[in-house]
Amino acid sequence: MKFATGLFLALSFAFALPSQNSTTQPAKRLEELQNKTILVFTPHPDDDVFGAGGTIALLNHNHNKVYVVVYTNDDKGSYDPEMNSQRLAQIRRSEQEVSEGMLGTSKENILWMGYDDGMLEYAAQPKLTEEATAIIRRIRPDVLLSVDPGEWFERWHKSDHRMAAFNTIDAVRAAEFWLYFPNQKLQQGLQPYKVPEMYFFYPSPQEANYFVNIDSVIDLKVDAALKQVSQFEPAVNKYRPDWDLNDLAKAKEELRGGQPRKEGHFVEAFRYATGFNQY
Ligand SMILES: [Zn+2]
Repeated sequence: MKFATGLFLALSFAFALPSQNSTTQPAKRLEELQNKTILVFTPHPDDDVFGAGGTIALLNHNHNKVYVVVYTNDDKGSYDPEMNSQRLAQIRRSEQEVSEGMLGTSKENILWMGYDDGMLEYAAQPKLTEEATAIIRRIRPDVLLSVDPGEWFERWHKSDHRMAAFNTIDAVRAAEFWLYFPNQKLQQGLQPYKVPEMYFFYPSPQEANYFVNIDSVIDLKVDAALKQVSQFEPAVNKYRPDWDLNDLAKAKEELRGGQPRKEGHFVEAFRYATGFNQY
């Protein structure tokens, strides 16, 4: 769930200051990887696009295999009194498929965990971790992207973001030790797996330590984000499946303006980590 004037602007803080963790860097840059398997976990069908859409487009362009796991069905985020949750979940699903499709991710590579919007924190544990662990053991990603579970965001993250962030990193830990959820190996043949590299999107400015230049795909990212029509005004107030051209132009301007910049370039910021113990 995302509203037009919220998250993007909240993230447009200055990235000019050197971060504390600037020494931790990957051997090969994320945006230069080719023929790798990438697994993205997102709380809602759109955080992947807002937080890492430019990077996902570059990864797809470079012939990587990108999978997107969506924790929730996003069935609450509408002010329209005529809307209902079942219909909204369907709308959100097709918006996400179109949006990710523009970034190069096929519908088949979007995996829906199906939890209700806003309820992830109350989902049955350890089922939630077990499910995410099975996905990691099955996909065996070279690189995993997820919402940052870093300490700064515990203070304000909305429930699903907080829970998705913590659950994914818990699943990363569980995936490498076969004695967590041993039936996955014994009954399903899923072998343990250690995720080598992680990039966390929505990092705090204090913890961001990796930036992807998305100048070449900024328009594509914005256009893809705007396919999540129901999450923007006016459709969030009174649902309509399409854009009025004036509204579209205004929203496009807002998204471009809100995209973080570093040294004159559009960037997506991440916290890079190589193990579940890093913070
Ligand atoms: Zn969200």
